[in-house]
Amino acid sequence: MSKRALILGVSGQDGAYLSKLLLDKGYQVIGTSRDAGLSTFFGLHRLGIFNKVLTVSTVLTDFRSVLGTIRKYQPTEIYNLAGQSSVGLSFDQPVETMESVVLGTLNVLEAIRFEGGNIRFYNAGSSECFGDTGELAATEATPFRPRSPYAVAKASAHYLVANYREAYNLFACTGILFNHESPLRPERFVTQKIVSTAARIAAGSQERLRLGNIGIARDWGWAPEFVEAMWRMLQQKNADDYIIATGRSESLSYFVERVFEHNGLDWKMHTEIDDSLLRPSDIHVSRGNPGKAAQQLGWTPGRDIDGVIAGMCEQFHGVGDGSGRVGQ
Ligand code: NDP
Repeated sequence: MSKRALILGVSGQDGAYLSKLLLDKGYQVIGTSRDAGLSTFFGLHRLGIFNKVLTVSTVLTDFRSVLGTIRKYQPTEIYNLAGQSSVGLSFDQPVETMESVVLGTLNVLEAIRFEGGNIRFYNAGSSECFGDTGELAATEATPFRPRSPYAVAKASAHYLVANYREAYNLFACTGILFNHESPLRPERFVTQKIVSTAARIAAGSQERLRLGNIGIARDWGWAPEFVEAMWRMLQQKNADDYIIATGRSESLSYFVERVFEHNGLDWKMHTEIDDSLLRPSDIHVSRGNPGKAAQQLGWTPGRDIDGVIAGMCEQFHGVGDGSGRVGQ
């Protein structure tokens, strides 16, 4: 019998790549959106798999909705990727962020308890929980110091998952993922904003790229590779939490410079700093150590920031199809 996966939040970047991975592995995939009738499922269409995924409406903050979906489709694995996912937006929508991430995760955990059985659960955690790591790369033992409503919400969800694993013996894991990018990233995220704007300027647009703090450093990886780590977590003998990162961090100014280079442009001629884009509190440096994932999951990243930039820029140069296989 084929395995059946339920992906909560299938309309996002990771939902599309994870669907592709699981379909390729022979899974039956059911994916949710808050309103499956309205969602464009852009990523699923872009990867050419929309017709292979059963899309249904589920609202994570509504327990009845979550329980109904799990009861109806009886998945063997559940991946929760849904929730307000923008750090910047979380300062403007803190309640929505907390409810969708914390209450949403709690409802899934409770529904799994209600249903019993052997459902395996993946929770989308975040490197934002660590706050500033400085030069020392975070490990799974590094304390959380969240610096945004988003990070506070992800930290709460992380502890809920750990508590339910311990208290009720659920097979529940949190992947503490560092930033991961792809051509499916929406333009409200800074990486796609940079890549798209640079491509438009190279094509003749007179616009300027407006950025906030370009001194921040992040560990940027490749989304199609990161979803493989999610799947691997659920194939282990025991449930556990894992950091998924590339191990290399660079500044945002490095990212901007390389992207403009790819387009044959000097970034300084086309970029300006806009103080209105600064966040009330931000993380200066974020570094991750993916050693445990390498050792226990056998997962290692193929692309670091340079590979990510090449893969994202190719979407505008007629190379690649957004499937994540571009340039490989
Ligand atoms: P996306 O923003 O692309 O997708 C998030 C999904 O959640 C969408 O499918 C959307 O579905 C749903 N959603 C959005 N807002 C809300 C809301 N307010 N309430 C309920 N559901 C909502 O995220 P990614 O695919 O990039 O990331 C997947 C998960 O991994 C997220 O939880 C994110 O926070 C986390 N993460 C991502 C990282 C990254 O770099 N990409 C890094 C670390 C963690 P719909 O609108 O159709 O209902």
